Amino acid sequence: MTWFVQASLVNEPFSDPGLLIDFRFGRRALLFDLGDNTPLSPRQLFRVTHALVSHAHMDHFAGFDRLLRVCLHRTTPLRLTGPAGFGDRVEHKLKAYTLNLLDERSCDFVITVAEFGDYGVDGVCEFRAREAFRRRAIQHVGLPPGTLLDEDEFRISGAVLDHGIPCLAFAFEEKVRVNVWGEGLKTLGLPIGPWLKEAKRAVRRGEPDDRRIAVGGDRSLPLGVLKQHALRSATGQKIAYVVDVAYCDRNVEKIVALAKAADQLFIEAAFLEADAEIAAQRRHLTARQAGDIARRAGVARLVPFHFSARYHAREDELRTEAARAFGE
Ligand SMILES: [Zn+2]
Ligand SMILES: [Zn+2]
Repeated sequence: MTWFVQASLVNEPFSDPGLLIDFRFGRRALLFDLGDNTPLSPRQLFRVTHALVSHAHMDHFAGFDRLLRVCLHRTTPLRLTGPAGFGDRVEHKLKAYTLNLLDERSCDFVITVAEFGDYGVDGVCEFRAREAFRRRAIQHVGLPPGTLLDEDEFRISGAVLDHGIPCLAFAFEEKVRVNVWGEGLKTLGLPIGPWLKEAKRAVRRGEPDDRRIAVGGDRSLPLGVLKQHALRSATGQKIAYVVDVAYCDRNVEKIVALAKAADQLFIEAAFLEADAEIAAQRRHLTARQAGDIARRAGVARLVPFHFSARYHAREDELRTEAARAFGE
């Protein structure tokens, strides 16, 4: 089955954390965290429609400037999400620049910023290039608590964790994946066309088999028939991302729930268990703790990263410790 998105770390594991989720179709990408993003090409950054920032420590937010610079002259909006107070952070970043060259004739580049708290998205503001990025509050559509983003083909859930400050963790979840089977279309004598989009959407929504789908011309067919002959569905991919959290029951519980049965869990493993005390002081995880959480969440693949620079020559130890606790 072809992939829908591909997730890859922006940097090697001792550098700033960040995950690029690249879409196979639609020239689109998402970013989890905005630390150093120099390994990404301008072309890759230009595709980013949403950047979700766990918290505003520099290693997670210093790359905002480069993203802004690359996207400044595009018409597609950039949507940012971060923890409580994130609107202020973005506003301060924007205010740091001299923007006298922006006016009502500028390209209408829009940045929206959503703050995500325990009860979901609460508070959205907007900055428009044509208004020299003056902040204005805007109404937002209500999403269920725990949901950051909900689109036709995927949703992103979030959890607020404790890192001494609120820190967000994310789970990208593809909805039921529907593929078209060309032979089946031929058998039914159906053309490829825009109607397929509606049919796929109906499958993802779990609509009944007797729902009629217009298939072009005056023809329509029951969804059940299409499912039987031409549409193949399977569960989609789930990718979870967790950084900078203290190892405490409440955090672990929330991570296990968020990352449950994920195909891939990208999780910080900043310290070795031998330095658990330092990890606790700095409210970070050890490799053993990361592996243990991954095992409890029943994920298929564990990717430890965000290693402390002190272990530069000991990367294998971090990986082995995490893998052991995970049960590999
Ligand atoms: Zn941090
Ligand atoms: Zn960090």
